[in-house]
Amino acid sequence: MYNTSINIDGRQETLFVDSGLPQEYQKAMLINHYQKRGDYSVTELLDAPRCARLKQEHPEVETDAENLIHSVLGTAMHVYFDTHLEKSTPGLYTEVPMSVKVDGKTVTGTFDELLLTNTHMFITDLKNWNVFKWMAGEWSKVYWQLNYYHYMLAHDPEVKALFSPNKQTVLRVVILFKDWNKRDADIHKDKYPPQRGVTVFFKPLPLPEVKKHLKARLNAHRALESVPEPEWPDAPADKVWQKCTAIKVYKKDNPKKAINGGVFSLSNYNGDFDKANAQAYLLMKSKGEHDFFTKEVWTERKRCERYCPVSEFCTTYRKHCAAKNNPKVSFKIGK
Ligand code: SF4
Repeated sequence: MYNTSINIDGRQETLFVDSGLPQEYQKAMLINHYQKRGDYSVTELLDAPRCARLKQEHPEVETDAENLIHSVLGTAMHVYFDTHLEKSTPGLYTEVPMSVKVDGKTVTGTFDELLLTNTHMFITDLKNWNVFKWMAGEWSKVYWQLNYYHYMLAHDPEVKALFSPNKQTVLRVVILFKDWNKRDADIHKDKYPPQRGVTVFFKPLPLPEVKKHLKARLNAHRALESVPEPEWPDAPADKVWQKCTAIKVYKKDNPKKAINGGVFSLSNYNGDFDKANAQAYLLMKSKGEHDFFTKEVWTERKRCERYCPVSEFCTTYRKHCAAKNNPKVSFKIGK
């Protein structure tokens, strides 16, 4: 608790600031509404097998209320639209649970909205994103998520009646941005979301192709079932929200200072930078008398460090922490 003096309408008042939330709010936020159905949810399947399985194995671990603020706000948004959309629009279904059997396992998922018109079938997922996610182009998860829902809609005997092969399927993501601002939208026109609320459309993949992908993800997760945790593969960088922010080129005989013009940085507003540029530069330089090598500069594993409730049980993360001060050498050429 600290206090600070401020002026309110000409009166000098004291603000008392307590960090954290009152207990009754914390308690409300910690209520777990999640009900496990089937063997794997679509969300689990699209996550790294290590992260999904470790959470499954440690359901007892509670996170603190602070870490749940984003998820509570996301839930509130879903409840709002679930309540208000359905009442006003005919042919519209919200939050319908689905499940399908794939290779003997039950996969479950719940679409946010299905809208049936005379000609179209819109399958929609609702997102509450930070602008950064848009800028980073993180479309893979939602793209497959919607394709999986399409597949499940066509195959779940309970909801199959809603599926119409004669209608054109459109996959939609409705995104409400938490931190959109007009100034950045004007400056970074090509990269920044054009509005605070945006709708993105995808063409659905053919269902056999979706099934193939679903099976491959399922196999990746099942492969962990008979193997002890230390042997599970590490999560890929994008799943732990880790980014390579720069590639630096060094002379072998001066490994402390990158050479002039040898720093290739990632800019948030220019999307992913091109590793090939760094490699080409290195090749060009290596024609001289010196040997060169590169180091990648990575951000922290943000998800592991700040948001993962089971990080204390995660062997690969512990190893990563131990090796944190050893920068990764990505590729070397020359002698
Ligand atoms: S610590 Fe990181 S890699 Fe390990 S389970 Fe958590 S998020 Fe996944």
